[in-house]
Amino acid sequence: MRVAVIAVQGAVSEHVEAVERAMERMGVDGRAIATLKPEEVRESDAIILPGGESTTIGKLIWKNGIAEEIIRAANDGRPVMGTCAGCILMAKHGDEQIERTGTRLLGLMNIWVKRNAFGRQRESFQTMLKIKHIGDFEGVFIRAPAILKAGEEVEVLSTLEEYIVGAKQNNMLALAFHPELTGDTRIHEYFIRMAL
Ligand code: GLN
Repeated sequence: MRVAVIAVQGAVSEHVEAVERAMERMGVDGRAIATLKPEEVRESDAIILPGGESTTIGKLIWKNGIAEEIIRAANDGRPVMGTCAGCILMAKHGDEQIERTGTRLLGLMNIWVKRNAFGRQRESFQTMLKIKHIGDFEGVFIRAPAILKAGEEVEVLSTLEEYIVGAKQNNMLALAFHPELTGDTRIHEYFIRMAL
């Protein structure tokens, strides 16, 4: 199995390592690659869109043809996971900040996202989350977005205060936090299982 981690910016190598450690634990034969090549994305069994700056990542993936490949993969039923800025880009509906910056979303999941939802006082923080199918999981939030609302076909996986911070729609996952930064590979294992 091959998992593509879109390598514009953010914790790309951490995602690659988390996938490889998860595969090893599960006894799955495969590897993760950090890539910016549309054809490599096309040939992958699953795709991860990491965090970073959604404005920058958005621009680049639409410019170099990766956005179309992510959409094609999602439509084919291959698993796609967006974390933090990636969570924003997975959405169909953005807030006014996303609109103001002209960020073009992938429009894959029926979720309403808000950029930098947790405010200035709490730019980054860690907190224990309860995640459906996973259990207790340490959530690392870095200038994190939140999901304000989820459409009917979306399964809410986790909430924090009034926000949704984890959601699943068929073969797609959107997480407002960074599962690659804790050393706990259970979310990556769950994601890989979606691709088996
Ligand atoms: N604040 C960033 C954005 O809106 C996301 C932060 C992150 O990915 N760590 O794009």
